[in-house]
Amino acid sequence: MSIRLLSSEVIDQIAAGEVVERPSHMVKELVENSLDAGCTEIEVEFDQGGRRVRVTDNGNGIATEQLTLALARHATSKISEADDLWKLGTYGFRGEALATVAAVSRLMLTSRTLDAKTASQIKNEFGTNSQLETVGGNPGTTVLIEELFANVPARLKFLKSESAESSQIKNTLKALALARPDVEFRIRSGGKLLSVWPRANSHLERAEQILETELFSATYTFNGFEVQASFASPHNVAGQARQIWIFVQGRWVQDRGLQAAVIDAYRGLLMHGEYPIASIQVKCPPEEVDVNIHPAKSAVRFRDNQTAFRAVHRCLREGLEKAPWIENQTGVHAPSKAYDSTLELSPSEPQALSFQAPELDRTQYQKRELTSAHYDVLKTAAKAAPTYLDSSTERRPETTFVRNLEQIPATRATSFWSQLQVLGQAHLTYILAENNSTLYLIDQHAAHERIAYERLMSAWKTGLIERQDLLLPLTVTLEPEAVEAIGAQAVALAKVGIELEPIGHEAIAIRSMPVGISEKAVVSSLKELAREIIEKGGGFALERKISDLCATMACHSVVRAGQALSVEQMQTLLEQMDEFPLSSFCPHGRPVSVEYPYQKLERDFGRIV
Ligand code: ADP
Ligand code: MG
Repeated sequence: MSIRLLSSEVIDQIAAGEVVERPSHMVKELVENSLDAGCTEIEVEFDQGGRRVRVTDNGNGIATEQLTLALARHATSKISEADDLWKLGTYGFRGEALATVAAVSRLMLTSRTLDAKTASQIKNEFGTNSQLETVGGNPGTTVLIEELFANVPARLKFLKSESAESSQIKNTLKALALARPDVEFRIRSGGKLLSVWPRANSHLERAEQILETELFSATYTFNGFEVQASFASPHNVAGQARQIWIFVQGRWVQDRGLQAAVIDAYRGLLMHGEYPIASIQVKCPPEEVDVNIHPAKSAVRFRDNQTAFRAVHRCLREGLEKAPWIENQTGVHAPSKAYDSTLELSPSEPQALSFQAPELDRTQYQKRELTSAHYDVLKTAAKAAPTYLDSSTERRPETTFVRNLEQIPATRATSFWSQLQVLGQAHLTYILAENNSTLYLIDQHAAHERIAYERLMSAWKTGLIERQDLLLPLTVTLEPEAVEAIGAQAVALAKVGIELEPIGHEAIAIRSMPVGISEKAVVSSLKELAREIIEKGGGFALERKISDLCATMACHSVVRAGQALSVEQMQTLLEQMDEFPLSSFCPHGRPVSVEYPYQKLERDFGRIV
């Protein structure tokens, strides 16, 4: 077969497959055009799963003599030189969307510029333009699409059910609105007004409109990357990663790396199967990111993935470590961080985190529901007569390790836990405590574990970990790669009390380890550390492994379930919980406490309805 150029019809249909693979992609292109036209209001109406869509904006409009051009392929008002691609200030730039949609639908484009007296209209039926007409209408542009893909049965066959396509469209609209709080969105479908998102003053405010839950804001700047995160408390979670919304340069992107950064920032705060709810806005210098790697522009490529990852991770983690939701619970303003929470490995990184307190007084928000497991706990608690212990009860000797840690000065982060009234201990495992509105059951082991973990982490950061020298060095045989990986981290490891050095290529000698930690725990943590560094590379793996190491060490050093505690000991534990904003989560992500609001108790007893 000889080589021929494709007809423009075929080219358009191929392009349609890439640019507007699904109706939601088309909606995205149309709304982005409106945003590029500088509008402040957009109305989107969709039906038949998006085979009929109307987008109306109050933007700049298109001049009459340019209407035909707007529907032509590779016609754009947005860039003129290839260089412009790298500094895009607009969503669109490929000049394809309208042309390709026109090729596969009945399209009507009506537009009026601000200085024109009337609007003009052009129709295009499956690629063929009609004559221009003069019509009435407000300044701005309306694009109406009907019978999408009617002439491409193959594509029609690939559409999902109407409801699946509709929910995809709604999702896309949420993303567009999350990116642009300065624009009002109205969404209609099936003759009904589905949503109105009025112009918002901040990303946080817009994210709360759309995600419909209480969120908190944090910002962070790192190597030219500016990150703003609107995030939910770890009590308030999703069952899937879909509620993690990521935007780069104002574009919604599917970026696995940044998604992982978000999930990782919640590390130790969520249980298995729980995902964060967050909207993340990343801005960076234009030369740091290529937005033109995907026809639908839903993916980007960073020059340096690590920087983007770190900026997002740090922004969220620091926001989370302030535990702003506690402030809302108690009405007390959460003081600044209790300790330097930055896992600082390169001291040159700028510290530009600022925290915006939520301006609204939100009293109630969705908390982790009491599950049946929680009720079981409550039932057990009710059965087991609370063991009241006075302070004369013999104190359990604490391990040296924890006593050493007790000496590390800690600042109070909140007074939430210490203000609770201790009622007793249930099942030798749970501390029962209350305030005037709620009954709390606190898992003594988990609480203590968290405290020990946080103290270890801060000890690590300040170099205060108690170390025990071994009489004879402990030799561990490893793969050469692992020896190299661990050897390179010797200085950082010394800060957690582990002093070691390579002996030859296939072994390390451990000379000291933290007090109270078994050799086995240290060796297996080191092996895991080596594996992660080999797989994922230096810096970040180390932060995580140190954190894991501290979690393991904490777990081995604290009060067990099944131990009687005196009221005084319980009170002390609660006071210690206040030292760290994240005390309500054990390092493994299990909850430290379960709460039972008295209102609920009264409802359950039929006292109120
Ligand atoms: P691109 O957005 O990549 O430039 P499109 O095919 O989406 O390509 O649009 C072609 C041109 O039509 C745009 O560059 C713009 O000048 C004009 N246009 C499209 N939609 C609108 C709108 N809603 N308001 C004003 N101008 C528009
Ligand atoms: Mg466009």
